[in-house]
Amino acid sequence: MPKSRQPQDYYDKIKEKFQDERNLRMDYRPPGTVQFTSDLTGDLEKYAIDPQAGEVPSRDPIEDSVEVLFIGGGFSALLTSARLRQKGVEDIRIVERGADVGGTWYWNRYPGVACDVVGYDYLPLLDELDYVPVNHYSRGPEIFAHCQAIAKKYNLYELAEFNTTVTSTIWNEAEALWHVKTDRGDLMRAQFVICANGTLAKPKLSKINGMKTFKGHAFHSSRWDYEFTGRNLENLKDKRVGIIGTGASAVQIVPELGKTAKEVYVFQRTPSSIDVRKDWPTDPNWARKLEPGWQAKRREKVLAAVELSPSKKAELDALTKDEKLQQQENGNIDYMMRIHKRIDEIVEDKTTADALKPWYMFMCKRPCFHNDYLPAFNLPNVHLVDTKGKGITEINEKGPVFEGEEYELDVLIYATGFEVQQTGIYNSIVGKDDVNLSDKYEDGIRTLLGIHTAGFPNLFIMGGYQASFQFNLTDMLQTQGDHIAACIDYVRSNGFRTIDPSYEAEEWWVQEVIKHRGKTSRSEECTPGYYNMEGASQRRQDGNYNGGFRQYFKHQGEVRERISECFNLEKH
Ligand code: NDP
Repeated sequence: MPKSRQPQDYYDKIKEKFQDERNLRMDYRPPGTVQFTSDLTGDLEKYAIDPQAGEVPSRDPIEDSVEVLFIGGGFSALLTSARLRQKGVEDIRIVERGADVGGTWYWNRYPGVACDVVGYDYLPLLDELDYVPVNHYSRGPEIFAHCQAIAKKYNLYELAEFNTTVTSTIWNEAEALWHVKTDRGDLMRAQFVICANGTLAKPKLSKINGMKTFKGHAFHSSRWDYEFTGRNLENLKDKRVGIIGTGASAVQIVPELGKTAKEVYVFQRTPSSIDVRKDWPTDPNWARKLEPGWQAKRREKVLAAVELSPSKKAELDALTKDEKLQQQENGNIDYMMRIHKRIDEIVEDKTTADALKPWYMFMCKRPCFHNDYLPAFNLPNVHLVDTKGKGITEINEKGPVFEGEEYELDVLIYATGFEVQQTGIYNSIVGKDDVNLSDKYEDGIRTLLGIHTAGFPNLFIMGGYQASFQFNLTDMLQTQGDHIAACIDYVRSNGFRTIDPSYEAEEWWVQEVIKHRGKTSRSEECTPGYYNMEGASQRRQDGNYNGGFRQYFKHQGEVRERISECFNLEKH
């Protein structure tokens, strides 16, 4: 950790400013998610419509049985299915709301969509598919095509049902099967069900007075309407476009809008931190020399790189807890001030540059990396409407209104994010003794490894709370997929029918999660956002496992080693 570069007073003043900026935002809005709605029905139904699906073919309801059923067809399902196939599981069905596999990468087709994790690490199963991404950072269409390639390779299209939303998943004790019902009238029975519905899948809108009165066109960033904008946004050249939100999606969209639209208004509540994106086309000579197993080795190296060397560790161990915290915070502030400096160097208008500066610790919000976002504000057609933490609170038939000024628009894009890490977003999950999962979680989330939950036999959860968070999400999902495939394989090869975590094992994990959460007050001090549940106070168990990714991985292995102690395994 670098030594502090400035006198302590400098850091203390910045910390105070961070606190003021947080308080300002907390004063403007209620904490938590009540400021948003993801109930996209009635007047808001248009925001949920899938523009990719086209004409949905009609079909008769299905009534059948499969061995493994995935709710959701994104990376969680694809990665786990690949492992299940390798273990000889034939009967796998993906049930997916969209018209294809891909999850996030199916829905998010907005212009400029790309991944902020290096493609050689993010795109999974590169060895298995004998594929090397075309750039250091992959664009959305390449990732979507990779998802389709995985589904083809592992023959997952055969039993898949698209344009189908699971509405209830109910355990039938007599049959020892899950009964899965959908919005297409299906009743699918499955021995194993995997909730693979994604971490950020259900779009949400900020509740803004008058939003329904807007007469122009409007859509959510994850439902991009190319019919309106044109494939290359050519229809926007005579249009006034507004975008609400400046998170990771908007940061990728704004530069594209800036290239084509007549006028672009970016409505900002809290700026994102924007760092450089070091991108390059893959060197074919490098790619040619890669040997089997290269991706696993690379991922291992990336994980090892964030671990401290023995000398650094000794240096840190010599400090008191407070000294350690202070060093960490000062280093964090130095980083954020470099982000500010970059803004000053790029953005020509001083008022705009100042408004784009994020005043919070690094990682309070999801960091962004883009080379064209800040320069876009030098374009004459791109205007930042900085709401100074307040946000847009009023929209009339012409467009958003801020401080009495009306912004007349032809189209308004909501880049306002998604519901976070909800298990069973459109789906009511009912386990043994008619217990609904949401009722079980009423007094706090209870799982083993964030994957299993007692009373819900043969049900597995991916990407939910109480699992470790990884910036490279596919790394985390791969470990969960490997673990789930190993559990299912164990049940099948030992003649069992069900696997259900014991109360003791679940309680152990809940306590592990609690123990490792909130080691500092950082989360409470952060500006509100989805990383800290929008500033709402939260139970210590209702979040991610913060004991470290490698430790999480190790615990998965230990649970599998002690599988007969950690689970009730029954033959029925
Ligand atoms: P976010 O939740 O990150 O951002 C929502 C934005 O909307 C915030 O800037 C928020 O402001 C703003 N907002 C909400 N209400 C209002 C309002 N009334 N007025 C003005 N602004 C408002 O959503 P995104 O879709 O941008 O990103 C979601 C996540 O998806 C990312 O964090 C990331 O994890 C993932 N993603 C990943 C990518 C990748 O590279 N892999 C690319 C894109 C997205 P405030 O901050 O004040 O709440």
